Amino acid sequence: MKCRKCGAAAALELRRHNAAFCAPDFLEFFRNQVREAIRRYRMFTREERVLVAVSGGKDSLALWDVLIDEGYDTTGLYLDLGIFDYSVESKAKCQAFAARRSVPLVISTVADEVGAPVPVIKQVTRRPACSGCGLSKRYLMNRVALDLGMPVVATGHNLDDEAATLFGSVMHWQMEALPRQSPALAATHPRLARRVKPLYRLSERETAAYAFLRRIDYIVEECPFAVGATSIAHKQVLDRMEDGAPGAKHNFLFGFLEKARPVFERAEGVELHECARCGQVTSGTVCAFCKLSDQVKRARA
Ligand code: AMP
Ligand code: ZN
Repeated sequence: MKCRKCGAAAALELRRHNAAFCAPDFLEFFRNQVREAIRRYRMFTREERVLVAVSGGKDSLALWDVLIDEGYDTTGLYLDLGIFDYSVESKAKCQAFAARRSVPLVISTVADEVGAPVPVIKQVTRRPACSGCGLSKRYLMNRVALDLGMPVVATGHNLDDEAATLFGSVMHWQMEALPRQSPALAATHPRLARRVKPLYRLSERETAAYAFLRRIDYIVEECPFAVGATSIAHKQVLDRMEDGAPGAKHNFLFGFLEKARPVFERAEGVELHECARCGQVTSGTVCAFCKLSDQVKRARA
């Protein structure tokens, strides 16, 4: 097989694009997809400071790598969830990456902010670990961005993540989730940072190839709590469809974004106020994060 660009021996075949690339041309293809995502959704400019949420995995470190090379003004944010060895190792990967590229990394520790690490939050709330964890991550990403005066938070969600989330929302007809499924969410309140996903056009296999070719050292293990999660089951269903019909995931997600999402996007969303306790945005009086940390502190007292 030959590279579509230069005709040299191909290193990677992308069936979904009916193309193959040599290593250098694949890296350029990858960067072009990120540039296209940023341009199409006006995610951020070179004048803006971008907070890149890094988990230590391949996607978010690949994203940070591209944004640094493109000359964006980035700061990394690692959230230490306190999930045993998984957190110890993923934090070390982020620190090593930041040191090697001489870029700033901020670390925020969930146990300090909520009063307990994710495994204890799971016990106290008697709900799946991912629910308190997801809530804490979204809250802390936004708060750190505000504290540092950064207008936008970028995450490493890829095409597979986005297609699987959409699939889950459709399976359960989560009507409030559908309009929020987007590569870019505007800041609808002065105390909200914009949220963007510059890798939404790239598959998990492509981000893995990019990380490998760029010799990025990332944590390969998944979070131990993610084992058996429905999101993984949804990914497997979509993987099987993709095997039989390359481009299935792409068509599912991009078709939604282009044709269906505008229908679901309501002109006026819910009204947002500032939390009476912490000042961050909520649709109620006290935000879900403050309620969670109350619950954790009460249980530990
Ligand atoms: P996940 O929900 O684990 O698939 O992660 C999706 C994205 O959220 C990642 O690509 C990161 O950008 C961000 N993220 C996940 N975990 C962390 C973490 N511990 N610290 C900072 N960002 C994270
Ligand atoms: Zn609050």
